[in-house]
Amino acid sequence: AKAAGKDQAAVFDVAMRQEQADRIRLLERLRAAVDADEFAVHYQPIVRLDDAHPVAVEALVRWLPPGRSPVGPDLFIPAAEDSGLIVALGEWVLRRACADAAEWHRRWGTTVTVNVSPRQLVDPHFTVKALAALRASGLPAAALTLEITEGVLVRSGAHAAQALLHLSALRAEGVRVAIDDFGTGYSSLAYLRDLPIDVLKIDRSFMPADDADTQQAVLVRAIVDLATGLGLTIVAEGVETADQAGLLRALGCQRAQGYHFARPVPAAAAGDLLALAGNV
Ligand code: C2E
Ligand code: CA
Ligand code: CA
Ligand code: CA
Repeated sequence: AKAAGKDQAAVFDVAMRQEQADRIRLLERLRAAVDADEFAVHYQPIVRLDDAHPVAVEALVRWLPPGRSPVGPDLFIPAAEDSGLIVALGEWVLRRACADAAEWHRRWGTTVTVNVSPRQLVDPHFTVKALAALRASGLPAAALTLEITEGVLVRSGAHAAQALLHLSALRAEGVRVAIDDFGTGYSSLAYLRDLPIDVLKIDRSFMPADDADTQQAVLVRAIVDLATGLGLTIVAEGVETADQAGLLRALGCQRAQGYHFARPVPAAAAGDLLALAGNV
């Protein structure tokens, strides 16, 4: 039994080393990809539930290694965060998204929402960089929303304090702040009242599966009522069916995002989609 345990430990060790080698290789490729501009920003509409009009788009990064199929962010964002590469990548996404959205905003009033990693908010220069991205693009500050996850602000200490400073400074300029994946972290009701936020994005794990899923509906209604009472805008994420959209509307939710309305698409296709909606 002892020998078997030893073998298992050895197998485990080999697997660990393999995993580590894979991670290092991924990191090297990611670093080269940043230098080689192998990324693209795709956009997914966020619609008004009343009439399905796209009022905003979320910027979602894609890695397009030449000659290979696109790699989704779930596969490389964690490595980019651990290594700090996310800072340069996130800044690039922000500049790209502001540049793409400036014309959409001018023509149709569309706003853009961009994911910001906790690592970016620790950078003392984040506010200056974000304002520079706005200025370079011509996009008004009020047309930009930054999406953060709740953990960033709830943690105590220097990092949370730095993040708070950035968000407060940017909000003073007109930028809006959204809590992403709301309901999945260590939510505290007090922070909804106290923190500098404007939008709650309800995580897709709360979407009712069907009409009979009353427990989910009760939760969504409670979140919508709470947020509405606090003057926050609600966006429901992961809306995949017409039934879900109808239910959300009945529950008082104003905005939604999901495959039922549109998938994330490249910038040119997003422009076409917005033009179509803007010209009706
Ligand atoms: P997220 O911010 O929660 O973005 C929403 C994700 O849900 C996107 O996945 C989107 O394609 C997907 N989605 C949209 N509608 C539906 C639906 O109806 N059903 C389902 N099942 N999924 C839907 P994506 O693009 O693969 O991005 C995954 C995550 O990667 C994002 O989750 C975000 O956390 C992160 N991410 C993406 N772009 C960036 C970025 O530029 N910077 C940072 N820091 N993180 C990013
Ligand atoms: Ca997001
Ligand atoms: Ca989300
Ligand atoms: Ca997420």
